[in-house]
Amino acid sequence: MLMEVTCRCGWTTRGSRSEVISNIQEHGRSAHQQEITPAQVRAIWRVVEGNGAKK
Ligand SMILES: [Zn+2]
Repeated sequence: MLMEVTCRCGWTTRGSRSEVISNIQEHGRSAHQQEITPAQVRAIWRVVEGNGAKK
């Protein structure tokens, strides 16, 4: 399943669950000097349906 997370700054990432968690954690550190927990990611991510996941 493909997930998508949009940061409050407008930055977006998508990928598998583990990918989006590690991606946004890295973004949080480099862009906001903030440590984001997996629980925080789960609170804001959403499932990408249709278009994004198609080839
Ligand atoms: Zn951001």
